[in-house]
Amino acid sequence: MTSQTRHYIDLADVLGLQFVCKGCGTSVDVRLEKLAQLPTNCPNCPRLWMAKPRGGDMQDRGADFHLLLTDFLARFQSIRAVMNSEVGPIRDFCLTLEIAGPNPIKVP
Ligand SMILES: [Zn+2]
Repeated sequence: MTSQTRHYIDLADVLGLQFVCKGCGTSVDVRLEKLAQLPTNCPNCPRLWMAKPRGGDMQDRGADFHLLLTDFLARFQSIRAVMNSEVGPIRDFCLTLEIAGPNPIKVP
């Protein structure tokens, strides 16, 4: 017999993001409500993580990503606010995200 355990989290359980620099390993935690404070570079080394868009210059992929991430987080918060609302038609189901569980214990 094969069994499988699946893991789900409620949208309300997502508190923030963590950015980890591939250059030096420094991490920066950002709460979801602090969208305006997304880091664009490592605070510890010269690595640029993503550029903020400048005056319509969308040729920079880093600027594209900054916009994409900001938009994603804003939409995520909007969805969560609607799901938590006491009014409106969206009350008869729960929405959760499936996540990977902890790695299984390896028996030597
Ligand atoms: Zn760094």
